[in-house]
Amino acid sequence: MKTLENYIDDYIDDYIDDYIDNYIDESIKQLPNNKTGIIVFDIDDTLLKSNPDKIAVYKNEPGKPEKRLTTTEFAKDPDAEDPNKVNWFDYREFSNPYKVYNSIITATPLINNLKILDDYVYAGYDFCFLTARACEETIKKALDNFLLIRNKDTGKLTEIGKRFNKVESHAINDATKNYHGITTAHKKAAILKHLCRTYDNVVFVDDDLKNLNTANDLHLHNLTTIKSHME
Ligand SMILES: [Mg+2]
Repeated sequence: MKTLENYIDDYIDDYIDDYIDNYIDESIKQLPNNKTGIIVFDIDDTLLKSNPDKIAVYKNEPGKPEKRLTTTEFAKDPDAEDPNKVNWFDYREFSNPYKVYNSIITATPLINNLKILDDYVYAGYDFCFLTARACEETIKKALDNFLLIRNKDTGKLTEIGKRFNKVESHAINDATKNYHGITTAHKKAAILKHLCRTYDNVVFVDDDLKNLNTANDLHLHNLTTIKSHME
């Protein structure tokens, strides 16, 4: 028998499905021939949900024992965006290429967001990622294997191929990189600003409101932001 909770879950699922289908129908338009576009995806809780056993961030609050945080817990931790507390967090597993690769290829794809990606790629947009992770090259390799696009006409899944713009894909905590800004939100915003000068249309998808709000505060006429659907 269906419990009230099931009904609510179904209602929310239907509502989100309708919302996404309507968004796709109404908002995603084919790029005109002379225009360029790119859809920029955050990774954790946007493109995919990684298995909490596979990768974690460690928090070392002074005077407290080390705490293991899943990527989702880390994203919600208010201390993570405090410029004075950046040293509390240890990303050692995120600089381990083996762990990073595995955390991606064993992750659950977030289908509702991927539907949006499929349609933007179909509409002529390139794809790149923008994540607070490190190990940029490993992520690129893992996504080459993980990320598939559904062809609207045939329904077939195919590799994203040349539409994956690897030059514009960034893992902002990569040890070899140095990005403008202190917090993740500001670093992401600086990259989006650059992309808005390179492409005619830029679409940014992220689950973190801090990242979305900071991007919106740039008031760029050619930037659209979308809140990730976590289901
Ligand atoms: Mg995220």
